[in-house]
Amino acid sequence: MKLQILKGDTVVVRRGKEKGKRGTVKAVFPGTWQATVEGVNVVKRHTKSRAQQSNMGGASRTGGIVEKEAPLPISALQYVCEACNAPTRLRHGETKEHRRARICARCGEPARESAKGA
Ligand SMILES: [Zn+2]
Repeated sequence: MKLQILKGDTVVVRRGKEKGKRGTVKAVFPGTWQATVEGVNVVKRHTKSRAQQSNMGGASRTGGIVEKEAPLPISALQYVCEACNAPTRLRHGETKEHRRARICARCGEPARESAKGA
C-alpha cells in the first residue's frame, strides 16, 4: 500500500475520539503509519523546567504545559479534496497535462502536489 496522505494535505478524522475533526497534516511518519494533524488530537505535556545554568541574571525557564499534536493512525484519516471540499478517495492518474498526480475520485481534480522541501 502506498501513502495517500502527504504533509500539507487537509484531512478529516474518520474514527476515534477526534472523529469529524479536520485539519492540515503537519507531519507523516511512514514507518509507523501515523501522522500528526494541526489542532487534532492535541495532548498537553507538562514540561519540567530544566534548570538551565542561566547566566542571564538568574532568569530560569519555568516548567509549563506544552500543547502538542499526538500522531494518529493514517488509516483513521481521510483526505479532503480542496476542489470539492469533501472527504474523498484519491486515485493515481494523470492530469490533463499528463503529469502523474493524485486525482480526486469524486470531482476528478488533481490533488495538490506533495510538499517536498516544504
Ligand atoms: Zn474533489
